[in-house]
Amino acid sequence: MAKVMRRLGDGFSERVYLPAIFEGLKITTRHFVNNLFGRKETVTVSYPEETIPYSPRWRGMHRLLPREDGEPRCVACFMCSTACPANCIHIVAGEHDDKGREKFPVRFEIDELRCIYCGMCEEACPCDAIRMDTGMHAAPVYDRDRAWVRKEQLLARKPREYAVRDTAEGPPCAVSHR
Ligand code: SF4
Ligand code: SF4
Repeated sequence: MAKVMRRLGDGFSERVYLPAIFEGLKITTRHFVNNLFGRKETVTVSYPEETIPYSPRWRGMHRLLPREDGEPRCVACFMCSTACPANCIHIVAGEHDDKGREKFPVRFEIDELRCIYCGMCEEACPCDAIRMDTGMHAAPVYDRDRAWVRKEQLLARKPREYAVRDTAEGPPCAVSHR
């Protein structure tokens, strides 16, 4: 024989909604007062003035490694931009006066708003010319152009201390463009 179950929520107090509304207001008011006088329950961080500590495993934004003469190690081979799934690396290659170098990036720019920080560019680079070891988090910007990071800015970035492998230059890249 079938058993008739009482349907939950069909009592008078549920149907008028008022007890639930007052219960919700009570919780909201409690959080408001607690946060107003002591911030006991807030999890909001006033970024960028305040930051939470990042994990030591966080590697950070890109930098371009310099040669000893300050020019980028990059030989404008386009492997990073080809590997980039977000299509956010833009390189303009030029011929170098030094025939041993052949090509260099006249422009090397990363649109940090499109970057998904996957690290594929770093993996693809045959010259160890680009690394993601600055520990920097992408800063908030008021216009898109400021998120467009250019060669000079990438070269000026420094590695986070823990991530230094060989501070810079290493052997010259052996990639040929012939
Ligand atoms: S981290 Fe990924 S998305 Fe960002 S520039 Fe490199 S390859 Fe592109
Ligand atoms: S893969 Fe390396 S060498 Fe090639 S363009 Fe990118 S950063 Fe430069």
